[in-house]
Amino acid sequence: MTNPFESALRQLNNAQKAKSFPSDLIERLSKAEREITVSIPVTMDDGRLCFFEGYRVQHCGLRGPYKGGIRFHPEADIDEVRALALWMTMKTAVADIPMGGGKGGVVVDPNVLSKTELERLSRGFVRSLYRDLGPDVDVPAPDVNTTPEIMAWMVDEYQKLTGDATGATFTGKPVDQGGSEGRGAATGLGGFYVFEALKEKVGLEKVTVAIQGMGNVGGHAAKIFHQHGHKVVAMSDSKGGIYNENGLDPVAVENYKNEHRTLSGFPDVKAITNNELLELAVDVLVPAALENQLTKDNAQKVSAKMILELANGPTTPEADEILHSRGISVAPDILANAGGVIVSTFEWEQNKTKAHWTEEEVLAKLKDTLVPQAELVWQQSKELNVPMRVAAYVVALERLLNAQGKGE
Ligand code: NAD
Repeated sequence: MTNPFESALRQLNNAQKAKSFPSDLIERLSKAEREITVSIPVTMDDGRLCFFEGYRVQHCGLRGPYKGGIRFHPEADIDEVRALALWMTMKTAVADIPMGGGKGGVVVDPNVLSKTELERLSRGFVRSLYRDLGPDVDVPAPDVNTTPEIMAWMVDEYQKLTGDATGATFTGKPVDQGGSEGRGAATGLGGFYVFEALKEKVGLEKVTVAIQGMGNVGGHAAKIFHQHGHKVVAMSDSKGGIYNENGLDPVAVENYKNEHRTLSGFPDVKAITNNELLELAVDVLVPAALENQLTKDNAQKVSAKMILELANGPTTPEADEILHSRGISVAPDILANAGGVIVSTFEWEQNKTKAHWTEEEVLAKLKDTLVPQAELVWQQSKELNVPMRVAAYVVALERLLNAQGKGE
């Protein structure tokens, strides 16, 4: 299994090779500024005291407070969180928002916890870390298996512990508890804006789409592509996927999954595995689940024309080389899924200024922020004759270099 942090370092070094950046900048970014490991005590419903390992990696604060989600997953580990934190630094720089990069994780399978245990764990995470968080220090958000409700518990706990009344320490909160309009769909919608900005350049128009993962990101992306007249032919969750060459109705699929807790039995479709989904002959493949899905073992078999990376780190560096040599365009995660952190930053700004922007305003600002960066990344990739991932790192590194120059 590829170590995601090693992948992140390789990506950094590929950008260094493309446009020789000072070695001190690369050295700085090759290590997190701070890593915190905590053991979170949680009283379970049966009275036992259990301890859950948690991490917060504060990768780089050159451009603003550390920013990045918290993941609850049984296979979360420090190298994964390190990689995700480094990618956040690159992402906030590509998006050109006033934030740094960080990430959190807790080693837990949330599906085996009761709701009250989940709440105690979420509040426990904050009790273990609150001295290192804050609106101008480190601002977490949701990620895999963490939800607006969890953010609401976390911000409430933070307020109790510190008296902070801004609510700006966590983003991705429910809209009626200080969240931003548009945050739920932001990552999927941002991905769609990036697709729209690039589609003609890569020779696409109306497309067929396969989407791996149907959580917050994949679920919204499926609905948005469908609403815009594209054909979503495959969707999946962790257990497997469904395929219909004539297209699926993502709302019906989501309703079915919510009711039955599985995609199995959905009518008029062919059941497929997640591996089969990745190899479907579609125009656009959207990985929206976890890291390391496209690897040296399956990259030769990918039949899509474009990959829109809405998950973080779905493509290993070996797979990247194969896909590039086969002429498949990859819209990289640090650009394609930046919509979430952009609207999170809008939420933070609204909290700090006690404002509430309409959904229309938020979505217009999201588009205005992200589309020029997609154009810039494309332009850089042509000028330097490199894949879009390398170009996105170059754009990010230039901004980070500028910030480093100002700071020291
Ligand atoms: P989520 O918990 O809402 O959903 C995850 C989905 O992936 C679920 O449908 C789950 O069943 C599926 N899944 C899990 N393991 C899988 C596997 N092995 N194969 C196929 N599907 C699998 O999480 P999310 O917030 O939608 O995040 C998905 C990805 O997007 C992650 O890589 C995350 O880091 C990234 N991301 C999320 C945001 C955000 O705003 N939530 C922003 C940027 C990037």
